[in-house]
Amino acid sequence: MDQKIENLIIIGSGPAGLTSAIYSARARLEPLMIEGEEAGGQLMITTEVENYPGFEHGITGPELIAVIRKQAERFGTRFITRNVTKVDFSQRPFKVWVGEKLYLSKSIIVSTGASAQYLGLPSEKQYLSRGVSACATCDGAFFRDMVVGVVGGGDTAMEEAQFLTRFAKKVYVIHRRDHFRASKIMAERTVQHPKIEVLWNSEVSEVLGDGKNVTGVKVKNTQEGSTKDLTMQGLFIAIGHKPNTSLFKGLLDMNETGYLVTKANSTYTNIEGVFAAGDVQDHVYRQAITAAGTGCMAAIDCERWLDGQEH
Ligand code: NDP
Repeated sequence: MDQKIENLIIIGSGPAGLTSAIYSARARLEPLMIEGEEAGGQLMITTEVENYPGFEHGITGPELIAVIRKQAERFGTRFITRNVTKVDFSQRPFKVWVGEKLYLSKSIIVSTGASAQYLGLPSEKQYLSRGVSACATCDGAFFRDMVVGVVGGGDTAMEEAQFLTRFAKKVYVIHRRDHFRASKIMAERTVQHPKIEVLWNSEVSEVLGDGKNVTGVKVKNTQEGSTKDLTMQGLFIAIGHKPNTSLFKGLLDMNETGYLVTKANSTYTNIEGVFAAGDVQDHVYRQAITAAGTGCMAAIDCERWLDGQEH
């Protein structure tokens, strides 16, 4: 029996993938979305989203994903709630496997996102979204006049710490070594900021809480081995992000940290017919709205590319 060839398979179901589904479904491409077993991406671990346009009073991350998903479904997107296990983009139609099951498609949008790195402490997991966050832009405003901590010594940690000084009355930067990896200017700004105190050679060994919210952290000095408890209401983990691109190694062009590379001002990857949108190709902005924007671009790029193939 001849196997069906899809017009478009979208891999990944955060705001980028779902927006590309809305646009491509409305363009009558009947997209098939393989949304993954942990569908929805990073918004699923975000409590309040106050900066997504259209929601005057804010919305929770999971609710936002649910409404965008319904919108995509309304125009005929089909969903498979499993993980893609293997792809072959070496010839067309492209091949996408979900376990043993093979799907064929004329085009692909990759929107598998990125994952924030965490310390891996059980207490950090327990208080995730209840004081522990990996995004100051998303959650900083909830910590007005409170004390917060930032873990990390790279540019992200510096940026998050400086952003948090707008709200918090004090920001600890907790770094495991005695100097920052961050660029000099960002590091200097951090060290000199009156609201910021840097704890060098320090690791968070436990997040403390009252069962509901974060109340502090246990910090261990890596040189002396001594520990102390600090009172704080928020802890921002800024130790890097990892794009979810292991499936595409050796197939799609990536930068040195594994983010997919797209051609300037477009969502085209190095393989014709394969497009990339959202955090999987953006290590700079990383916002739900920018992901949705590039998802829209990918659907338009894909629709026009398919159209060009037919004529
Ligand atoms: P980086 O990899 O640059 O830094 C990660 C930091 O986290 C390092 O200081 C590292 O410590 C620390 N770290 C890693 N793992 C752990 C752990 N398990 N426990 C404690 N600390 C840990 O990531 P960033 O997200 O900061 O930056 C990524 C890229 O994006 C960089 O190239 C950066 O320059 C760029 N960027 C640029 C910005 C700008 O220019 N405006 C803003 C944000 C990012 P250690 O130093 O000891 O390895």
